[in-house]
Amino acid sequence: MLYDFELDKARKSLPRYFRILEGKELPNFIKAKKLKIDFREEMELQELWKIHREAMVRLKKRKEGDGKKNLLELKAVIAEKMMERCELCEFKCGINRKEEMGYCRVKDSKIASYFIHLGEEPELVPSFTVFFSGCNFRCVFCQNWDISQRSVGIFIFPQKMARIIEEAFLNGARNVNFVGGEPTPNLPYILKVLTYLETPIPVIWNSNMYMSLEALELLNGIVDIYLGDFKWSSNSLGRKYSTAPQYWDVITRNFKIVTAHQGAELLIRHLVIPNNLENTRRVLRWIRENLGTQVRVNVMFQYQPYYRASHYPEINRKLNYSEMREVEKMVKKLGFSYALVG
Ligand code: SF4
Repeated sequence: MLYDFELDKARKSLPRYFRILEGKELPNFIKAKKLKIDFREEMELQELWKIHREAMVRLKKRKEGDGKKNLLELKAVIAEKMMERCELCEFKCGINRKEEMGYCRVKDSKIASYFIHLGEEPELVPSFTVFFSGCNFRCVFCQNWDISQRSVGIFIFPQKMARIIEEAFLNGARNVNFVGGEPTPNLPYILKVLTYLETPIPVIWNSNMYMSLEALELLNGIVDIYLGDFKWSSNSLGRKYSTAPQYWDVITRNFKIVTAHQGAELLIRHLVIPNNLENTRRVLRWIRENLGTQVRVNVMFQYQPYYRASHYPEINRKLNYSEMREVEKMVKKLGFSYALVG
């Protein structure tokens, strides 16, 4: 019963996603493939961006046009070229990822694991989840630190990964869920995989939302659901616990931008941190004031003091009962229609 109730809330909050699942609409990446254009791979990056911006205008007007290539291929080529001076996230290392790792510890994309995940939000499961290693954050309590803070796993050829996703879809996966670590450093690989994928499977971008503006442009018209983490309510908390400079400025900017992305929907996750209920209140207030009360928000109580949390006594424990009750009341009072709590 509870499951049906939650699904009903999700259906109201993510109507387009459900239309894709019902075969009434195509996922965004397939629409991007249908938009035909011409370009040459050897063109300068600046020229390719110009063609991209013109094509995005056509995508918005739903004009498929003609040409020998398509918008998704163009996005993949631009992302690949961006690796030579990587600015895919706001760390903007500017290094050549074809030769060395960035701050995120990603050079080539390495996949730590993939499987059909049953532990995500009810509307997402079963979710075919691809876990990349490496991350541009250093969250001191990271529960996936064994893959996010190390370069582990294997490179799988994009063609092969596309076949693996197709098989998962045939076996009942509702979506492909790119996570890590963090998917952003792996954007060139992910776009390449999608160029080989023919299955109408929705794409979930399961991310810390620290992408650069350029990466966001490439994601526009590709992602069906941004499954975005929103952890901190200030730049100083973001720096202290996730080592992310200008966290608040970047994340609030990016959440506003993706709400205007072509056909994209939003599911925001907020992890409640012990002794930090004011943080939760400020994050939720910002969401209410800027994204409204109809957005799907998952306010999570699963915090555990993993990784280096023992160096921070104030967060070196699980949530207690009274913190959970207080957050439940807070969410109710703020009036979110489709929130998940717990
Ligand atoms: S994705 Fe990695 S290499 Fe690229 S800018 Fe971010 S941290 Fe640096």
